[in-house]
Amino acid sequence: MRTPIVAGNWKMNKTAADAVALVKALLDNGIDQIAGVEAVVCPTFTALDAVSRLCEGTNLAVGAQNLYFEPNGAYTGEIAPEMVAEFCKYVIIGHSERRGYFGETDETVNKKLKAAFGAGLLPILCVGETYEENQAGKTADVVTSQVKADLAGLTADQVASMVIAYEPIWAIGTGLAATGEQAQQVIHDYVRVPVTEMFGEAAAQAMRIQYGGSVKPSNAQEFFGQPDIDGALVGGASLKPDFTEIVKAAAEAK
Ligand code: PEP
Repeated sequence: MRTPIVAGNWKMNKTAADAVALVKALLDNGIDQIAGVEAVVCPTFTALDAVSRLCEGTNLAVGAQNLYFEPNGAYTGEIAPEMVAEFCKYVIIGHSERRGYFGETDETVNKKLKAAFGAGLLPILCVGETYEENQAGKTADVVTSQVKADLAGLTADQVASMVIAYEPIWAIGTGLAATGEQAQQVIHDYVRVPVTEMFGEAAAQAMRIQYGGSVKPSNAQEFFGQPDIDGALVGGASLKPDFTEIVKAAAEAK
């Protein structure tokens, strides 16, 4: 049985002081007391130190939103895997905003996944199709080819330990969530099945696959009731203390 994982991607929101205030509110709400689910917050780099101190000794895990694949050197403005690992258990890799605005490709995503594992981090890999691709019936091709290219060269053990977030790009920040059935079908057929083919049944069954795209307290149950959906990657609705309600919904569904 997979433990669901609900992660909040705060994107470029909240100063370190604002981040501390939100984590305090989440802990006051009992976010780390909810059994049977893993809760994660992913603030900006500048808040990781303060947030990781607050989360020490709690069950609330911390993740980063990105890293660079080189270990150190002349890469102005970038953050190395080992630097992220000082503060984090998880790291989001290949978010559609990074692919869309910052030129990330399956090749760089693959390098980042390997670098993350090398530093002892657990990646949350994002895959998903655009609205145009969805409407053109290309969801299967796009998602499966991302999965295959991004995971190439990883070991079955690494894949078993990581998380994939299926995030249809048309549902991110738009209020247009996929239905639970749509997300289940893509996650099973175009993510878990190709992972089974590449890495075997045991790894594919152990790997947790989230849905992401306009998840909020009022619709979370619809996704968490699906057999292959093991939690959510949450953007906008993770910026408020009632993010805890989404974590509770994941615990109640399993
Ligand atoms: C995201 O940023 O990964 C995301 C799913 O955002 P939202 O929940 O706001 O759609």
